[in-house]
Amino acid sequence: MTTARWLAEYAWLPEHAEPTPDVLIEVEDGRIAAVTPLTPGSRPPAGVEVYADAVPLPGLTVPGLANGHSHAFHRALRGRTHGGRGDFWTWRDQMYAVADRLDPDTYLALARAVYAEMALAGITCVGEFHYLHHRPDGGAYDDPNAMGAALVEAAAHAGIRLTLLDTCYLTSSVDGRPLTGPQRRFGDGDAARWAERAAAFQPADPHARVGAAVHSVRAVPADQLHTVADWARERQAPLHVHLSEQPAENDECRAVHGRSPTGLLAEHGVLGPHTTAVHATHPTSADLSVLADSRTAVCLCPTTERDLADGIGPARLMADAGIRLSLGSDSHAVIDLFEEARAVELDERLRTRRRGHFAPLDLLKAASVAGHATLGWADAGRIAVGARADLVTVRLDSARTAGVPPVGAFFAAGAADVEQVVVDGRVVVAEGRHLTVDVPAELSSAIEAVTPA
Ligand SMILES: [Zn+2]
Repeated sequence: MTTARWLAEYAWLPEHAEPTPDVLIEVEDGRIAAVTPLTPGSRPPAGVEVYADAVPLPGLTVPGLANGHSHAFHRALRGRTHGGRGDFWTWRDQMYAVADRLDPDTYLALARAVYAEMALAGITCVGEFHYLHHRPDGGAYDDPNAMGAALVEAAAHAGIRLTLLDTCYLTSSVDGRPLTGPQRRFGDGDAARWAERAAAFQPADPHARVGAAVHSVRAVPADQLHTVADWARERQAPLHVHLSEQPAENDECRAVHGRSPTGLLAEHGVLGPHTTAVHATHPTSADLSVLADSRTAVCLCPTTERDLADGIGPARLMADAGIRLSLGSDSHAVIDLFEEARAVELDERLRTRRRGHFAPLDLLKAASVAGHATLGWADAGRIAVGARADLVTVRLDSARTAGVPPVGAFFAAGAADVEQVVVDGRVVVAEGRHLTVDVPAELSSAIEAVTPA
């Protein structure tokens, strides 16, 4: 049995409005075995036997953060798409140029560096919305799941958990036009063949699990949606879907099917308690009721939505309807769950010109326990007995956080303030450095290998 004892200067415990000072956290075999808040002010003097072997954790320790929505290869586009005007659709063409250049080896190198960047940011689990399945011409690799296997291996190298959301992507428009050009490698032909390939991928690694995704109502014909939904339901696996990211998607869906994307997904069995709608930036009020009644969760990606000029999702209305909110860095314009979390509140302020929509605890939960749940790791994201020992310690003495009360960390700290990260009881980041990956060097070489000159 491996054990560790940490003495957190502050730890954010479940359902506490504010962090608690002086918390002894004991870990055994990757799980939290005991959580003992010491009496305020009773921090033991050095040498007191009962705490003598506890390693001090200066700063604020929060549960592991979950990145609910990732396309690892989009990281190669950071800073390269700002040269002109345009919108989501022009950005997408640049993204396809990178997608065209990836193979299992270059994707392993890129994803390993990206997931290690996530570890540095306090992310202990990622949901990879994976649709780069095949060769650029659409033909299968010798192992038809070679790209998914590369992502699982990349997460292992980076020391974080991964839910591979194997994405069904069959058509290029709501009215069923075929995939062309760089999209060809996304497709399996039909949902039955997608299901067959996805079922064949069963990684035994304890850090990984497999879920499913419907890319969007653009990419899966209505009469095949149930195949993906049934596949996930039979396995009680997470099911994710891009939803109403663009007004154009809503318009096309109404024109072709006479209902909103949310209505179409509901009709074909895609929504439910194991389903997460990603973005949901442009829902109607009727859509929100459907999402809430079906207990579908929502994953907001605020830094991507602002980067792509997508709009602001109605986060407060969703929360009021009882919809669980989680967070993702999606296109990785930024990998910083603190930034995603505060954007939920700050975007709402811009929309309403009022402050104070979400409490700090709400933001923490969206960034941690709610995200883990949407990825199928219900035992993670809380500093509580029995939970996975994912502990993220944030400095409160950096230039950004000095003088900030611990409860204000989500409005002041960023990824650069993460000092230590423990995943399943294992230290992955110490003193702000990844223990096994030279993140800046590996990012730059991996990106250089896949970006057009
Ligand atoms: Zn996405």
